[in-house]
Amino acid sequence: MPPTIASVTPSAALVAKYGRPGPRYTSYPAVPYWPAEYPVASWREALADLGREALADPSHGVSLYVHVPFCEKRCLFCACNVVVTRKHERGPSYVDTVRREIDDVADAIGDARVRVSQMHWGGGTPTWLTSDELRSLQAAVASRFELLPDREQSIEVDPRVTTLAQLDALRELGVNRLSMGVQDTDPAVQRAIARHQSVAQTAGIVTHARTLGIDGITVDIIYGLPEQTLDSFRRTIDTVIELGVDRVAVYNFAYLPERVKHQRAIDPAALPDADTRVELMCTASERFAAAGYDMIGMDHFARHDDELARARRDGTMQRNFMGYTTRAGQDLLAFGASAISRVGRDFAQNAKTATEYAEHVDAGRSPVVAGMRLSDDDVLRESVIAALMCYGEVDLGRIAREHGVDLLASGRARLAIEALQGDGLVRWRGETLVVTDLGRYFVRNVAMTFDAYLDGPAPTVARAPTVRFSATV
Ligand code: SF4
Repeated sequence: MPPTIASVTPSAALVAKYGRPGPRYTSYPAVPYWPAEYPVASWREALADLGREALADPSHGVSLYVHVPFCEKRCLFCACNVVVTRKHERGPSYVDTVRREIDDVADAIGDARVRVSQMHWGGGTPTWLTSDELRSLQAAVASRFELLPDREQSIEVDPRVTTLAQLDALRELGVNRLSMGVQDTDPAVQRAIARHQSVAQTAGIVTHARTLGIDGITVDIIYGLPEQTLDSFRRTIDTVIELGVDRVAVYNFAYLPERVKHQRAIDPAALPDADTRVELMCTASERFAAAGYDMIGMDHFARHDDELARARRDGTMQRNFMGYTTRAGQDLLAFGASAISRVGRDFAQNAKTATEYAEHVDAGRSPVVAGMRLSDDDVLRESVIAALMCYGEVDLGRIAREHGVDLLASGRARLAIEALQGDGLVRWRGETLVVTDLGRYFVRNVAMTFDAYLDGPAPTVARAPTVRFSATV
């Protein structure tokens, strides 16, 4: 396993060479490469299989995700699919729609009462809903699934709209982890991204959560934002360290004005240049490492004694649509608009907009509108990419022996690895390909070498023409 501290700084020339659009690999294949058609029957079959498995092995646990798409205001940097509204009267009907989807999925699973060992509410802003609405959502889940008492239960909170009373209610529901966006604490940056959030607001949520015994707190920050400077970002990092949070996600701002229309309100001249972006990225790695955080995967940091850092050491960490998580190999059932599930070999995504999603459920149809059943080759490449993204290494010799597949057989893949090796981003340890300290910044590029879809012919990647991935570094 590579060391936990990124101790090297990539040159701007390397970043220019490798910084190109690429998937973040929260799934393989990346969503835009899923086929144009996915039969709902395939999804129902996967759910029925899950039910049979759960009956045969009652200890079989799943992760569960509930998506709440609403936000009070639009943050200019955000590329998430959200509904910006202050019409809170939409809350009860959304909760009711999700409840009906939960019933439909539970019916398809059959007689088994599946155990939930991990549950996450994401958005949008889940605390856009009232405490009573959150209670109703939880009751809907609990009526059809068995919520294990020792489950991990997390929620994304926006410190600008979340009240302390809501935190009390969440704790009563079993929430033991919070994640919240901070992005950048500098007022000029906050003006440029239309997100005004004082340090006092963030600290108030962190302090109250701690008093309630919520002991897992994650903060997101972003580098590459307009008006960001090395000094301002250092202050943001130091503030996050002072808050004493358990995990930090440091994201690279994806500036995609062609696809994300509201980003056109951002002045491109205010964006940090390529050299500064590299410095921002390295500053985060250095400062969090110096403060005692382990670097996890490509963009996360966790205190050495945090469950995620332990899962990385134990080999039980995995990457899915929720990012890096601690429960490897679990099926993921996801509810709500745009939510993506993974059960067995099937991915299934719900209709993206809240309106479309409700139309499907109201008409008694499954809201699943896209998906994919993975082939043997997909499953193999998925495991290789997951190993690289989570642990920075993969034993290709073992894969060749066990599966009879040489993943570097194609000239393109071999040449790509040779080029990465020439630039010091990967090395060989016997037959194991290892991402170097320097290469950790470019791990998406390394993973792309094993992606069979990126250069695929258009007919088999029907949605690829609309693909606009963020830059890999
Ligand atoms: S960053 Fe969060 S609060 Fe802002 S628009 Fe995106 S989901 Fe909503």
